[in-house]
Amino acid sequence: MAEITRQMLRDYLNDALPDAELAAVEKALRESAALRAKYKELLETEDRGEHGVGAIWRRERVSCPTREQLGGFLLGAGDSELLEYIEFHLKTIGCPFCQANLDDLRKAAKPAKPATKPKR
Ligand SMILES: [Zn+2]
Repeated sequence: MAEITRQMLRDYLNDALPDAELAAVEKALRESAALRAKYKELLETEDRGEHGVGAIWRRERVSCPTREQLGGFLLGAGDSELLEYIEFHLKTIGCPFCQANLDDLRKAAKPAKPATKPKR
């Protein structure tokens, strides 16, 4: 697996990576807690500059979890790596789309009976 350099993370942040590398970085971010920590640190540093939150959430929107995955996150159900990624996406990145989506899901969630249960 290709190594993700700090420069690649920075380019990722600034929306300057070619697609192939972009996919590699996203995959690595999902898989590696260490890399997420590094990215978070980079976010905090870069955030002071011009390339602010706008570029970040535009980028992160691409890798937004699906509504179904967000629903799973609400229930704490699903792959733990994915849940961790969603938490990172929501709390560290602060993606406004997913936060709104999550709010919506929370309101829609009824404690009564679940209509259908997805089969495994
Ligand atoms: Zn999102």
